[in-house]
Amino acid sequence: MSINQNIKPITLKTNEKGNLEIGGCDTLELADKYGTPLYVVDEATLRGIAREYKKAFSKLENVNMMFASKALMTSAVAKILSDEGFGFDVVSGGEIYTVKNAGVDMKNTTFNGNNKTVDELNMALDAGVGHISVDNFLELALLNEIAKSKNIVQKILLRITPGIECHTHEYIQTGHLDSKFGFDLTQLDEALELILEEYKNLELTGLHAHIGSQIFETQVYYDEIGVILKEIKRIKDKFGIELREINAGGGLGVTYTDEDCPPSVETIANTIIDSIEKHCTELGLQKPVLYIEPGRSIVATAGVSLYTVGSYKQVPNGRKYIAVDGGMADNPRPSMYGAKYYAQIANKKDEENFEKVTVAGRFCESGDILIKDIELNSPQAGDVLCVYNTGAYGYSMSSNYNCVLKPAMVLVNSSQSDIIVKRQTYAQLIQNDVIPDRI
Ligand SMILES: *Cc1c(COP(=O)(O)O)cnc(C)c1O
Repeated sequence: MSINQNIKPITLKTNEKGNLEIGGCDTLELADKYGTPLYVVDEATLRGIAREYKKAFSKLENVNMMFASKALMTSAVAKILSDEGFGFDVVSGGEIYTVKNAGVDMKNTTFNGNNKTVDELNMALDAGVGHISVDNFLELALLNEIAKSKNIVQKILLRITPGIECHTHEYIQTGHLDSKFGFDLTQLDEALELILEEYKNLELTGLHAHIGSQIFETQVYYDEIGVILKEIKRIKDKFGIELREINAGGGLGVTYTDEDCPPSVETIANTIIDSIEKHCTELGLQKPVLYIEPGRSIVATAGVSLYTVGSYKQVPNGRKYIAVDGGMADNPRPSMYGAKYYAQIANKKDEENFEKVTVAGRFCESGDILIKDIELNSPQAGDVLCVYNTGAYGYSMSSNYNCVLKPAMVLVNSSQSDIIVKRQTYAQLIQNDVIPDRI
């Protein structure tokens, strides 16, 4: 089984004390030592899935794995994935700053985004970002001007909207035609003419698409590669240049609950490789250099969140709510997308007294519900709740709503735990506040 098909990190087990253990560390001890809420990242699971990706695509001669930083960006995660041979898809000045500071070779980065600012483009060029995936006409003109002022010829991809619909949440679909991202296929020729004739400081190396996120189908990847390669063939016939690079984006799904059944990494890899082989033969193209940008599937399963259970409320003739010490600020996905999670009480293997409850967060919104209707083992105040699969889009989307401090993150491996993000302090919370003299 592929790691993205598991709900739990690969090292997760129940120890002799009856407590959940991850990376050889007792979750109760982690909660005690570092406090809750706590993000825990299992290094073996993270490196494991990174290696699965590399192996699955190793049949291709020219392939580059780019981790989509927005799923989880911290300096230690950047260091680990860089050591595993990954480059990085970055989408902001902050992500560029973080990966550069972590020692990543900036040639192995691609800068994406539908409205990159002038400052960010300047920063990207100064940092030596490998590729910029240009999203629209304004950016083409702007980037050429900036590159010219720096006397640089910048490698670019064109982000295209391949017109592929996948069955995922509307907010996380990106490849269908009515999307804010990328050039419509009908606009490609105009972009090419501009690049070839006017924008001499841009070197177009290929096309880029990303069809969505939390994807369970393989056919959409097959089709996506087909659309990209057919465009490359069309461009070759019309402009006489054969673009050598294709970036297929990310999107592979993970298993948040039993309802999710994503394909394995190997299945996705084989689908993409088959599609490249078939379409290149059919269209008479050379095999391109492939880039892929998985985000969620790299980090989701490696991460769990630990919370302490607090108050509860039994609605007369209704639900029983138990409240935990975190919620929508450290994991906004349930309140934003209706995302579902699986969880277990970390310290109660033996009691076997399951009851159906709804896990509420501590934030001042009725919508701050982490998990609706889940069977938990006699949850009581003081218990530790372990929510699985929170590695992706949790910390990276976290906020300071209600002025609650952002949790710490620890990396566990072989019975060792290390802080990789410190818990925020109250002083940090107001460090940028200013009270003007005149008030
Ligand atoms: C978000 C994004 C990804 C990663 O998507 P996942 O679903 O997290 O794998 C990759 N490429 C681009 C351009 C993205 O916007």
